[in-house]
Amino acid sequence: MIKAIRGMRDILPPETGRWQWVEQVAREVFDLYGYQELRLPLIERTELFARSIGPDTDIVAKEMYTFPDRRGDSLTLRPEATAQVVRAALENRLDRAPGMKKLYTIGPMFRYERPQKGRYRQFHQINCEALGADAPELDAEVILMLMEILGRVGLTQMRLSVNSLGCPECQQDFKARLKLFLQSKEGWCDDCRHRRETNPLRVLDCKSAHCQALLKDAPMLKDCQCEACAAHYGRVLELLNRFRVPFEENPRLVRGLDYYTRTAFEVAAAGLGAQDAVAGGGRYNGLSQELGGPEMPAIGFAIGQDRLMEILPPEAAPPGLAKTFLAVLGDAARDRALTLLQDLRAKGLAAEMDFEGRSLKAQMSLADRLGATYVIILGDREMETDQAVLRRMATGGQEQVALKELPVILANFITGKI
Ligand code: ATP
Ligand code: MG
Repeated sequence: MIKAIRGMRDILPPETGRWQWVEQVAREVFDLYGYQELRLPLIERTELFARSIGPDTDIVAKEMYTFPDRRGDSLTLRPEATAQVVRAALENRLDRAPGMKKLYTIGPMFRYERPQKGRYRQFHQINCEALGADAPELDAEVILMLMEILGRVGLTQMRLSVNSLGCPECQQDFKARLKLFLQSKEGWCDDCRHRRETNPLRVLDCKSAHCQALLKDAPMLKDCQCEACAAHYGRVLELLNRFRVPFEENPRLVRGLDYYTRTAFEVAAAGLGAQDAVAGGGRYNGLSQELGGPEMPAIGFAIGQDRLMEILPPEAAPPGLAKTFLAVLGDAARDRALTLLQDLRAKGLAAEMDFEGRSLKAQMSLADRLGATYVIILGDREMETDQAVLRRMATGGQEQVALKELPVILANFITGKI
């Protein structure tokens, strides 16, 4: 039997219902804050990611699904959304319209990582990108919106960490100091020995505990910040305090992509084990120019939806529509039930029946398996009097009702009017 590829998985009902609900909640919050959806291709030119994310990052160095197409062009399954949102904004000239562009996109990402709990090769993100403004108020709003989505789906134990990565000028100064520090110590992992020459910032993001321990006395980005970057960061923190968003500053937070500037943040959640980051984001003021576009300061975040689903409280997702099952006995009743089925659906009531001539007992257990709230029992005898039996599955209570009144009675039951 052919199986799915390692690290890729099928998401099945009823879990898919919970996924849809989470996406719905995110869409509602995005609406409230003025964000609109983009739907983007899953494949892009490799160059887009190589250029924006940076050659020494984990993503570009070892995690991309890259392959030549039939013409030999190098294509890559998207490992993240920000670069392609900026690509799409520039290509479709969204940057020419006045004002900010507030965009979101939801869908799968691909990274060739070692599959484990909370880490898949196809995973799913809810992405937000706000293009065209550098105001610290926007940074605070984006973080508030992220926390609102996570709060509305029922997460309670979250830790928001924030940091400022400064602008390219502050970073240049910092990189020089960091490089000296890294060269002054021995014992770095192979990756970090390479990174300290090519891209010292990446060392801060190393997953090795040994490198992290060596970093204990490393210089802090914060101490190299220019006045403008420090003021920007200060205002973001002030607003987070004003809106009572709990956070902690983490001066070592750098994020795994090269394009970040100024505000960077991450949300860790309890219950996820080792892979506990449920969302991350930050400002990327230089990315548009990096991709050949005009100056376009921007900030965004990505929620890891797979991890979010993992810790969603079970009571968080509301139950689906109350369902009615039509149990039929006899050919005339079966035929009449087809009309009733469509009448119920026309009233907005979810309804199903058996088409395979099961016994009444088998139909009742099917109704149970389907989670039906009500069962209508319709036999040839009931048909003669234009009546049916309505059974409430929760209590087992039954009553006779007139067939033509059934849709109205059921609708009233379900909307709680009687
Ligand atoms: P990590 O440090 O866990 O590898 P990251 O910094 O690579 O995360 P981002 O690029 O910031 O992750 O992506 C944002 C979010 O997407 C992460 O916080 C996480 O929830 C989720 N995510 C990233 N990679 C995976 C993966 N392979 N499987 C499942 N979720 C993922
Ligand atoms: Mg990663």
